[in-house]
Amino acid sequence: MTEATAPRIEIGIQETVPTIYYQVAMPQPETHLFEVTLRLVNYPSPILDLKMPVWTPGSYLVREYAKNLQDFGAFVGDKPLPWRKISKNHWQINKSGFSELTVRYRIFANELSVRTNHLDSTHGYFNGAALFFRLPSWEKLPICITIVPPRPEWRVTTALPSVSDQANTFCAADFDTLVDSPFEIGSHQSYHFEVLGKPHELAIWGEGNFQTQRMIADIQKIIQVEAQMFGGLPYERYVFLLHLFAQAYGGLEHKNSCSLIYQRFGFRSRDKYERFIQLLAHEFFHLWNVKRIRPKALEIFDYDRENYTPSLWFCEGTTSYYDLLIPLRAGIYDAKSYLNNWNKEITRFLTTPGRKVQPLSESSFDAWIKLYRPDANSGNSQISYYLKGEMVSLLLDLLIRVRHNNQRSLDDVMRQMWQQFGQAEIGYTPEQLQQVIESIAGVDLADFFERYIDGTEELPFNKYLEPFGLHLLAEQEDEPHLGVKVKTENGREIIRSIEVGSPAQLAGIDAGDELLAIEGIKVTANQLSDRLKDYQPNDTIQVTVFHQDELRTYSVTLAASVPTKYQVIAVQNPDPTQKENFAGWLGVPLVTVG
Ligand SMILES: [Zn+2]
Repeated sequence: MTEATAPRIEIGIQETVPTIYYQVAMPQPETHLFEVTLRLVNYPSPILDLKMPVWTPGSYLVREYAKNLQDFGAFVGDKPLPWRKISKNHWQINKSGFSELTVRYRIFANELSVRTNHLDSTHGYFNGAALFFRLPSWEKLPICITIVPPRPEWRVTTALPSVSDQANTFCAADFDTLVDSPFEIGSHQSYHFEVLGKPHELAIWGEGNFQTQRMIADIQKIIQVEAQMFGGLPYERYVFLLHLFAQAYGGLEHKNSCSLIYQRFGFRSRDKYERFIQLLAHEFFHLWNVKRIRPKALEIFDYDRENYTPSLWFCEGTTSYYDLLIPLRAGIYDAKSYLNNWNKEITRFLTTPGRKVQPLSESSFDAWIKLYRPDANSGNSQISYYLKGEMVSLLLDLLIRVRHNNQRSLDDVMRQMWQQFGQAEIGYTPEQLQQVIESIAGVDLADFFERYIDGTEELPFNKYLEPFGLHLLAEQEDEPHLGVKVKTENGREIIRSIEVGSPAQLAGIDAGDELLAIEGIKVTANQLSDRLKDYQPNDTIQVTVFHQDELRTYSVTLAASVPTKYQVIAVQNPDPTQKENFAGWLGVPLVTVG
């Protein structure tokens, strides 16, 4: 382990206030171990408490980051100090009269996701919450970090400002900022560009089939459109960290950066590229919505436990609404592609039975135990606050636009939230959010909230779409309904989920069963739909499965087919108001999508 030496940094503090300095080394990256040294000067109390966060903002699940910590030790010089553990993430050191001490530990980092740490022979990536200790009641102090790369060609990219005369040394204004600033260390590609006079960096780890010039041009357009919406860029510098590997998708927002994970060959096909641009537009939009415009429950993060809020539908769902709309406004895709995205999203929503069980506000509140922990029953009992939040945001945007002839929109809600709460970073309550939406809409929305946000009433898409010359068309295949989702896993056909109340469930088939045959003939996941088309509703078929190693055959009476696909299409003969509303919303004539 490399010995830490405190850098010469003037942070203008009084003598009784501690100086917190971290060094992060990785001498053998292939072991996946970060070697962390905390050096503390002027810590006033004889007892030092150190706590590792259990979660990281933006990803609402207790991840128990302390599980990756090993080889903990506290020292004055070479002399070990006594310490003990108080709880799973709480270490306590008896430093007695010493004013300077060093704490050393290793963090195992072998989970490649945007919210965890990853270190191997190709690079290092970490999130502050998963690497650094918090010093309770000293969270507001600045923290400096020196990275010690294992090889001379490895560079460091982070949104934190660097210390000019210290190699690979960065300073965070406080613990929240440290947690909010992931690091990429390695020989990644870096692309630098400006938007509205502000420097931006795109750092890419991993090979991929992206076209650099086109991608950067599109990112610049996304930044411009979002900046225009909010009236400027509220940062000095912004960093996109992009990790490319096999089949992957994910993003995590930060105030001055974001981490993105995407499939390395996901840039050639139009559909996949659009999905990447939406992901990027989404995380970038978060620098306003959720990083600065925050629910009250997330105004001050409690890193020790869940932080409950019923408003994640606005943080995530409204951001998802804009991640579809912004590439359209940026000219990256057309209105036809835009509505095609809606077809997929609405289909996903209207084929999820859980939308009738879990209200949107409850889905937000229970993110910690539900959305991030899906199981075979999730589809029957839950609805994603991303997905339904996006649907509700669409209805709200259309509601506001139609009431104000497109002179007002959800954009005004975002701007109002930004001015009232985001700029000063004051948390909003669910009531204040509703008030802002009502003030822009110019109407009492208690009934809307009760039905669609706090209740489970079916969303009236057509009522909101028709003033814009659109309506929703349900399509069904000529296939009687069974109600199972089957996936081929290691050559076995596994029933992943059973729709509540479906013929399969009524007959006794269970999620987890291995599907073997229909009417005595082997069937695979790929063949299932075609095989069912050979029967009629009310036909009874014999379905054979393995249920916990036991061979069973069930008699299943098939039901009438159900819609499997929904499409937003133009109404026939739209009137001038419908045409005008549509053009005001999406900026192109309705005829272009008809
Ligand atoms: Zn998000």
